[in-house]
Amino acid sequence: TTRTDRSVDVVVVGGGPAGSTAATLVAMQGHRVLLLEKERFPRYQIGESLLPSTVHGICRLIGADEALERAAFTIKRGGTFRWGANPQPWTFSFGISPRFAGEAATAYQVERMKFDQILLDNARSRGVEVREECDVRDVVAEHGRVVGVRYADASGHEREVRAAYVVDASGHASRLRAHAGTRHYSKFFRNLALFGYFTGGKRLPPPNEGNILAAAFDSGWFWYIPLGPELTSVGAVLLPEALDRIQGDRERALLDLIEECPLIAEQLADAERVRTGPYGEIRIRKDYSYLQDRFWRPGLVLAGDAACFIDPVFSSGVHLATYSAMMAARSINTVLRGEADEAAAFEEFEARYRREYSRFHDFLVAFYDMHQDENSYFWSAKKLTSNTGTELESFVELVGGGGWQEDALLAPGVKGGGRDAAMRQLADIVDQPVRAAGEDRNLLQASLARSVVREGSRLQVQAVMGGNVDEVRPIREGGLIPSADGMHWVRPDS
Ligand code: FAD
Repeated sequence: TTRTDRSVDVVVVGGGPAGSTAATLVAMQGHRVLLLEKERFPRYQIGESLLPSTVHGICRLIGADEALERAAFTIKRGGTFRWGANPQPWTFSFGISPRFAGEAATAYQVERMKFDQILLDNARSRGVEVREECDVRDVVAEHGRVVGVRYADASGHEREVRAAYVVDASGHASRLRAHAGTRHYSKFFRNLALFGYFTGGKRLPPPNEGNILAAAFDSGWFWYIPLGPELTSVGAVLLPEALDRIQGDRERALLDLIEECPLIAEQLADAERVRTGPYGEIRIRKDYSYLQDRFWRPGLVLAGDAACFIDPVFSSGVHLATYSAMMAARSINTVLRGEADEAAAFEEFEARYRREYSRFHDFLVAFYDMHQDENSYFWSAKKLTSNTGTELESFVELVGGGGWQEDALLAPGVKGGGRDAAMRQLADIVDQPVRAAGEDRNLLQASLARSVVREGSRLQVQAVMGGNVDEVRPIREGGLIPSADGMHWVRPDS
């Protein structure tokens, strides 16, 4: 028999970064929030390299910044890439952004077991009721509206809880997402990843010792993320055709791939693979690039990986997860205050989430496209021919943001306009000859790169200034803007 617990204002499904962020921002407005998490924390998760707007923007808004500082995560100044036509690695720093310097221009590399625990504990301390080992099985729907969820509690009893809103933040394996629409898998980002952990790997020379190192090679590219003085996360991103190769002996496959990539082999020359505990396993992830065609329906809203994910290459996952969670919380808070109708509030969430997704999507496509190695199978498969261009265009159209057009129109200095010009501009900056090893590249000279940091910069300024600083115009006709405290939406003329 199913027990109906009671009702709350909001049920959040999943205690990753998206779930903790949404739950906290709703609870901070005095609403009753129940967060149900399937696992008992700490639990393993991939997605370790963060962006400044998450660390200094959203984590500050939810009040988790001091706890994160105490955790002493590796400080990430930027990224070092062996990518494009340059045989030499080059570096870009967040610090080149004109609005930020010093600490604001850094992010963290995190062990997600620790990071996600801090965010979940922070949610508890801000009034969220958190229940772990609760597996949400389905939504409860009435008259076309989601009114709660059904779940199995820690002792296996089936329960039902009712809520004005359900936030699905249960990640890539979400069971609830289909209630809001259909997931479309990307035709361009069809990569798979094979990853494990090492101790004793080398570090880049200061001040870049905390950077993510991304190294392209024939079969794809490697990430090399320094999680602490000893621990390094190492993963290969490959074409789906490589699945056969990595399915048998995963350790052999990972070590062979490392041998194929001299830069990573050199970093790991004296390292040992971790063989025990949560980091002892070599894992595979595939089919991780997708986009939901609807992000909400009455009573239900999707945030984070439940809604979409692009690709590991530029650390956009946790940013999009926390950003979408903040937008979802604003929409819920607005309706619970009785200040806008549901459709207006949630269409605002969806429009802004799609816009941010498109910015990153377009940038990542360009980032892959600027690798010039026509002889390698991975990179030629990633080259945008007119064929894949058509697929890509329909995908971008599906996204609805019209990202290419927007960037081309807004970007000063893009000769001729259009997406090809924007991509060429990015490739030109990256392919300038490297004069010194580790030289800094000003990626922000490229319009596509500027566009991906635009919203993140705004978030950081808002968090520091404690409110809505520069968003006084809606992003679309009839749209809403954030309230002065950033916690809900208001009409621009109010
Ligand atoms: P999750 O972190 O997946 O959290 C979802 C939570 O929901 C989990 O705790 C899960 O246990 C819980 N849950 C699931 N089902 C249920 C249920 N039925 N009931 C209750 N709870 C449930 N991102 C970055 O920012 N930087 C990176 O460097 C990066 N690298 C990546 C590399 C790879 C190979 C991949 C695949 C992804 C990477 N990402 C990266 C993306 C990142 O992992 C995700 O975007 C991020 O974890 C999404 O957060 P989330 O809160 O939406 O979901």
